[in-house]
Amino acid sequence: MIYPRDGASAVRRSITRSLAQSRPRTLGQACTAGKLLARPLSTPSEHTPTPTPTTQSTSTSSSTPPPPPPPQSPQLSRWRRFLQSLGRVTLVTILASGGAFYYVTQRERHPGTQLPFDPSKKTVVVLGSGWGSTSFIKNLDMSEYNVIVVSPRNFFLFTPLLPSVAVGTIDSKSILTPIRYVTRHKPRQVVVIEADAKSVDPVAKTVTLADETEVQGAVSTTTINYDYLVYAVGAETQTFGIPGVKEHACFMKEIQDAETMRRRFMDCVESAGFPGQSPEEIDRLLHMVVVGGGPTGVEVSGEIHDFLEDDLKSWYPELAEHIKITLVEALPSVLPMFSKSLIEYTESTFKESKIDVLTKTMVKEVKPKSVVLQMPDKSIKEVPVGMVVWAGGNKPRDISVDLMKKMSEAQTNRRGISVDECLRMQGTDGSIFALGDCTASSYAPTAQVAAQQGAYLARAFGQMAHRDRITAELAAAQTAGDNEQAQTLQKQLSRYDRLRPFHYSHQGSLAYIGSDRAIADIMFFNFTIASSGVATYLFWRSAYISTLFSLRNRVLVANDWLKTRIFGRDLARD
Ligand SMILES: Cc1cc2nc3c(=O)[nH]c(=O)nc-3n(C[C@H](O)[C@H](O)[C@H](O)COP(=O)(O)OP(=O)(O)OC[C@H]3O[C@@H](n4cnc5c(N)ncnc54)[C@H](O)[C@@H]3O)c2cc1C
Repeated sequence: MIYPRDGASAVRRSITRSLAQSRPRTLGQACTAGKLLARPLSTPSEHTPTPTPTTQSTSTSSSTPPPPPPPQSPQLSRWRRFLQSLGRVTLVTILASGGAFYYVTQRERHPGTQLPFDPSKKTVVVLGSGWGSTSFIKNLDMSEYNVIVVSPRNFFLFTPLLPSVAVGTIDSKSILTPIRYVTRHKPRQVVVIEADAKSVDPVAKTVTLADETEVQGAVSTTTINYDYLVYAVGAETQTFGIPGVKEHACFMKEIQDAETMRRRFMDCVESAGFPGQSPEEIDRLLHMVVVGGGPTGVEVSGEIHDFLEDDLKSWYPELAEHIKITLVEALPSVLPMFSKSLIEYTESTFKESKIDVLTKTMVKEVKPKSVVLQMPDKSIKEVPVGMVVWAGGNKPRDISVDLMKKMSEAQTNRRGISVDECLRMQGTDGSIFALGDCTASSYAPTAQVAAQQGAYLARAFGQMAHRDRITAELAAAQTAGDNEQAQTLQKQLSRYDRLRPFHYSHQGSLAYIGSDRAIADIMFFNFTIASSGVATYLFWRSAYISTLFSLRNRVLVANDWLKTRIFGRDLARD
């Protein structure tokens, strides 16, 4: 627009005035139109004085054309409002879960101060840091006891995921929990000693320990006293005295076993790729035999198959076709503890996956490069192999055999320690409790049983502490001649005197069978629901994630699963 020369300065003044007066209005309009939504609006008092409608009309009418009518503020569409609310809810959820995550991790990382050892309390010595003992320590009310934990390994191992470690699906550290992460969170100090218990003297109530690690201090053996002994040393792998098993097969019990198997498996693959290898030798090196058709053997076979399909086919295409997996089982079927339909499902899945299942077949000998089998028709066959994985049963450890010999009349079961219905070792004065795989009970040797026994025993120890306190008060009341008080205490004592027997509640059985499939016998009230397939595999994963010991383990395992899914398994042999 062009203004006449002589009125230019008056017009400029008028425009400046009019702009200054109309700025708040313009801001207000922009805001109403939703153009400055994200910016915080200042209060009217922070602006230049808000022009009254009269002033405005005078100013504009004098020198400028009337402003265009304010644009109609468009209504936010439903969809946009929904997205805004969703965004807010998502933000709040992320902040809240991030805060909760941080809080829980920091609480786990920084345990508080603990009560010191109290010499007036009884001392409980716990042997082992496995399922039974860890569950006991976790659930025990420490106000009444001093606790000493003795174990040759300073961590708890989540055994159900061990087969996944053996092929590198999961990192070994992800399924370990240092036992001090458990004991440091108890209200009273717990002494943790990394040592092998060498012998137990049930009469003197002592345990002799030895540090058998690579590095030892000036003192490496000692003897400690106990008032109660919680005996949960687990079991060894049963080899049935079959020649060559100890020397040439890989076991699947400890974390080192899984790492050894992984190294040997990769060694077989790399050796098969060595130039000039004959086809027969390649076939031998790449023949993996798994002995034992229980859940561990089945899971190991399934994991090796996954490794082959997901990774080896990509990185060793020339060898992948030669890899053969054979599962050997002496009984007529694999997984005898599962429903019939699940056994059939597993066998048919293995058939699809080209895993040979040899039932009614017994291993007679394991040689460095072959395994001798007795076939169902009793014929003997020597099969060339690269690696044998031994997933056999359990047998008692030497220390358990030694302890049982000290009570040879009461301890006659060769499968393990005999206990009464309250887990007291038979033949003792009630000061030794045994649980888990080291016992010979009617229950299967599973983590479920051991963990439930540990929790039960912790409750029983709480009851025993009450009983001991009332007994002491009763003695004091009787000495003081307070008959009324003595009678009341006597009644209370009768409530705590008898321990309730242990009852096992079976939650179901789960096993991974490879190819992203799992099987499950789930208990629903008194019914068993058999389930299998990919959905069960997702259930298997969520069940294990939720059973893992700590938030740290859950995050690490979930991360390993994701890492494997995206990048595949690590082929590096360490
Ligand atoms: C590969 C694999 C997979 C499994 N999967 C499942 C599953 O999916 N579900 C299930 O329910 N069960 C499963 N189990 C079985 C389960 O792990 C055992 O039943 C369970 O570990 C038994 O618990 P425990 O406390 O008796 O013994 P363990 O957990 O074996 O603990 C024994 C502890 O004693 C310590 N110890 C050994 N010798 C001595 C000594 N001389 N002095 C002091 N301490 C000693 C050991 O270091 C260890 O800490 C699996 C087992 C394996 C091997």
